[in-house]
Amino acid sequence: MATIITDDCINCAACEPECPNTAIYQGDIEYEQDGVKHAALSADFFYIVGDKCTECVGFFDEEACAVVCPVDCCIPDPERPESEQLLIERARVLHPETEFAEGFPSRFSGGGGDDSAAGDSAAGDSAAGDTGSGDGVAVAPVQAAAPVQAAAPVQAAAPVQAAAASWSGRVEKAVRPGNTVVASGNPGERSEAELGLSYREVVDMAEEPLGGVTSTLRGLAALLLSPLLGALGHGPKAAIEAAVGNRAFFNVQTSTALNVANNFILYPLLAMGVGLALGARPFTEDDKGWIFIGVVIALLESMVRLRQGLRGTPVAEMNMGASLYGFPLGLLVQPLLERLTETGSSGAVPVQGFYGGEFEDKRERQRRYGNVYTIEDLPRGYRIRLELPRVIPPSATRDELGIGDEMPDYDLSVSVQGDSITVKGSVVDEKLRTVFGVSSSCPADFQTEISLDQPLGGYRQRYSDKLLEIVVLKQAT
Ligand code: SF4
Ligand code: SF4
Repeated sequence: MATIITDDCINCAACEPECPNTAIYQGDIEYEQDGVKHAALSADFFYIVGDKCTECVGFFDEEACAVVCPVDCCIPDPERPESEQLLIERARVLHPETEFAEGFPSRFSGGGGDDSAAGDSAAGDSAAGDTGSGDGVAVAPVQAAAPVQAAAPVQAAAPVQAAAASWSGRVEKAVRPGNTVVASGNPGERSEAELGLSYREVVDMAEEPLGGVTSTLRGLAALLLSPLLGALGHGPKAAIEAAVGNRAFFNVQTSTALNVANNFILYPLLAMGVGLALGARPFTEDDKGWIFIGVVIALLESMVRLRQGLRGTPVAEMNMGASLYGFPLGLLVQPLLERLTETGSSGAVPVQGFYGGEFEDKRERQRRYGNVYTIEDLPRGYRIRLELPRVIPPSATRDELGIGDEMPDYDLSVSVQGDSITVKGSVVDEKLRTVFGVSSSCPADFQTEISLDQPLGGYRQRYSDKLLEIVVLKQAT
């Protein structure tokens, strides 16, 4: 039986590097066979290409994917029973360079045995509805063995033979756009194309506030709206402060203070309005009561918002929270805030189906494709932070070659052209390239092209602790 992955799969990717035939692919990633690309067999979960699966016959005594799967969702395909003879033939076709001697590892014999006997027995046992523990036959140690046996009819042997004709002659990796062999260069080493300034100096240039009429008008608008914008939460206010780039026009502390003062007028007026609406007579003791309620609300609110200051936190470190109407106001001005702040974007890291510690595995895999990065939009440039992989994923090949689990630094190169910046990464160590060569989730080379909104000028990069930082200046327009 070829192995299949059920929809219990949690996309942890543990199985993928284990497969000796690279038969396992991430959901929504094309697979390749005979040099031809094919649409993914599953959009949501990891999947196995049946014609590349040998149930690990020739390599292991049991299905490697089933062994590592944390939710036991790699099971024999009840629709596709296959004999040991057929599976070892498939392994020979897939690995023409490998010699499979007698006694090859096999789940049928638990470490080698008579091919034909095992194959025959497998079919015979199925016919008999046996549990698969017949002579010389050991059924895959996956939990689904019993239902599979029950469901696997004898006549399935014929389609198996027909399927053999479509085997491909080599093991192929997952198809992922943009993976190319790239030029090399030491991480963090300054290239000819870079600016002759320190990284910090280029960051300072990129962070320098824009001058000119637009910038001044923006600052003045923020200044005038400070008593109102001060009602927002600390985060949005800090974003506005960064976008305005001039604390004389707008800063978190002053805007909050202005809003607190503003609310000592606004709340009593609103309370008086409520009182009048409920029948209180103006300029009497009635409306004074309502005004007093407004003052008390404003006082309590300001004590809550500034409570960190009351406990002795320095003003600059205080979290200046929102007023009572700060949240709805935030929703109202959100589109404006987005235009004003334009805080940048990041590389896509799908999280669906991931939780707890497994999320980190997913993120690590995305790092191997150069897909984990953030972009910060600065007044005069962009700052990009791209994370490189930290761990060599566990695999039988890694263990066989005696490679540890710490990922060495990639050879990296950065280039800027037009409005895009390209980062290329390449694994140098030959042994490691061998490990990556057997796993479709481990490209030995990656290329990430990031398109930005404006034509770009000079740049500077630095690299440390698996983090590549690039600051690139916008071209003056
Ligand atoms: S690990 Fe073994 S059983 Fe699983 S897909 Fe690959 S060849 Fe098939
Ligand atoms: S090991 Fe993980 S990715 Fe592979 S089938 Fe099991 S749950 Fe899915």
